[in-house]
Amino acid sequence: MTKRHRTPSDIETNVLTSSGRRCCICFGLNDDFLVKKGQIAHLDRNPSNYNIDNLAWLCFEHHDEYDSRTSQSKGLTLLEVKVYRNSLYNSVIDRRSQTIKGSEDATYTDILSPFNDKYNKNLIIDVSKVFDYSIEHLEKYIGKPKDVFWRKIGTISEVPDGGQTREYESGPYIFWIHYDKSETARGIRIFEGIEELNTSLEEWYNFLPRVNLSIVVNLPDITGLTTKTWFNQLGYKITIASSKVGGNITAIRVFKL
Ligand SMILES: [Zn+2]
Repeated sequence: MTKRHRTPSDIETNVLTSSGRRCCICFGLNDDFLVKKGQIAHLDRNPSNYNIDNLAWLCFEHHDEYDSRTSQSKGLTLLEVKVYRNSLYNSVIDRRSQTIKGSEDATYTDILSPFNDKYNKNLIIDVSKVFDYSIEHLEKYIGKPKDVFWRKIGTISEVPDGGQTREYESGPYIFWIHYDKSETARGIRIFEGIEELNTSLEEWYNFLPRVNLSIVVNLPDITGLTTKTWFNQLGYKITIASSKVGGNITAIRVFKL
């Protein structure tokens, strides 16, 4: 038996946050930027070498493939995986800084699926490019609403002064954007088309990237039987919900507080 060494926790944290738990082989081969369950792999296959350059987060499938000796002749090489890993780390940094900058320099060419997103073809809508924009600006990109609801003061606690809610449709998805009195977007709720994705509430880490909230890698701040809520560092309040205990995610609400 190979003696298994435990990765020191500061190095482990570095690998987890640098990768955001994306598998660099999924990323390098398939352009797949989704969060994966997996393990930290020792790329030189020496379990006591925990130099940061020797480590990568790999999904279970790719970890097995990488470690299996039969595949080594024409399989994934050490240098190849390091190139994918470095490229992944750069992409994680890029996307985090884009998300943090948010709507300041959004171009809107990739606000809605399935167009032009080079990392995640499963993007529903990039919510970071919705907040703080006006109705007029957003509707250039997402089209005219199917419906408009006027809200009374206090109807939505996160947008207390009233305003309007507009309903939009994009592909299989129907969603609301909540605007405040000055017609500025403050919240979004997606409630149709999500259940069909068959993602359970417990798999939230695979769902959040679909709305470009993959920056939320921490555990939820509040967990109920059918909801999970985060208050993240961008000032967002994010709630995902299932319609029944143990069910699939059916809705997401995000407010910029
Ligand atoms: Zn993988």
